[in-house]
Amino acid sequence: MLENTERTELSSLGEFGLIKHLTQFIELVNESTIKGVGDDAAVISLTPPLSKGEGEKCMLVSTDMLVEGVHFDLTYVPLKHLGYKAVSVNLSDIYAMNATPKQITVSIAVSNKFSVEALEELYSGMMLACHKHKVDIVGGDTTTNKSGLLISITAIGEANAEDIIYRNTAKEGDLICVTGDLGAAYVGLQLLEREKKIFLETPNVKPDLEGNDYIIERQLKPEARKDIPELFKKLELKPTAMIDISDGLASEILHIANDSDLGCNLYEDKIPVDPTTYNTAREFNLDPTICALNGGEDYELLFTIDQADFPKVKANPDITIIGHMTPKNDGTNLITKGGTSHALTAQGWDAILKK
Ligand code: ADP
Ligand code: MG
Repeated sequence: MLENTERTELSSLGEFGLIKHLTQFIELVNESTIKGVGDDAAVISLTPPLSKGEGEKCMLVSTDMLVEGVHFDLTYVPLKHLGYKAVSVNLSDIYAMNATPKQITVSIAVSNKFSVEALEELYSGMMLACHKHKVDIVGGDTTTNKSGLLISITAIGEANAEDIIYRNTAKEGDLICVTGDLGAAYVGLQLLEREKKIFLETPNVKPDLEGNDYIIERQLKPEARKDIPELFKKLELKPTAMIDISDGLASEILHIANDSDLGCNLYEDKIPVDPTTYNTAREFNLDPTICALNGGEDYELLFTIDQADFPKVKANPDITIIGHMTPKNDGTNLITKGGTSHALTAQGWDAILKK
């Protein structure tokens, strides 16, 4: 622990450094705790130690918190969408372990600026997402807050031990794959922020969101990839490592590479970016690749597969191969469209803390 006499700024550690710092001395004492801190979800064995082996059942647990003014702005986020998103982002972490979510608990802290009707809206969105994913709300906590809204959701899932996919088990030479496309949620956010600013300055002007439904929806109503673990089962494919993309592609591939003790090469020209995302990013003078690398909130799945499994994914329009894992000494690189190599860096919320 740090000396009491000195004050260390959070910004000196950053998000991941802070988590590591606070959790480094945790000692797991229960045999049933298979994975503690350090992946998308914790893994807890449900099978008594003596009958372990094939068929071991596990429970997956993951928590995420959304804070008004940090993670969402109610000026343009409808409460129903917020409820839907709060559930989706939590379930995404369970799918990222190749597991099936079954229950959630929901805790909220609310100020009196919210009406009962407003919170009903929030819950209708949460229930819609739960219905879609066949998940039960089984409890939670409700308390007051001086200002704004805070939502904390814990998701619980199930999987057989042998099906669970961790972040730290990629192998050298593995292909790096990503589902869907990236950067849209971030560009959607820029658009909503711009329209908010215009609205605040000239309230009579109607927001101009025409033709941008896709990126707006990616920001306001992200979908957790329930279909991907199902697809793996159908393809008889078990990726070697997996993580969901909440903080941006760069940050997530660095987790897989660092935790697996490997390097990686990502190819800029392979990164899937939707045309609306591309064009709108350009309108904002943003580099679409940077939006994909550092934007975040895509809630797509990033995974690595053995090269021998290439035929299983190659014809799938929803999966793109964007690079491969290399020896650690080769570093973690982005190979640009021009063919030059750049070291990948992650932003997470470190950038926010340094403001
Ligand atoms: P994700 O982006 O997948 O939600 P995070 O980056 O939030 O994951 O967290 C990484 C790991 O650190 C997870 O295993 C999470 O449970 C753990 N973690 C995060 N914050 C804390 C905390 N305050 N105390 C203990 N563990 C934490
Ligand atoms: Mg995650």
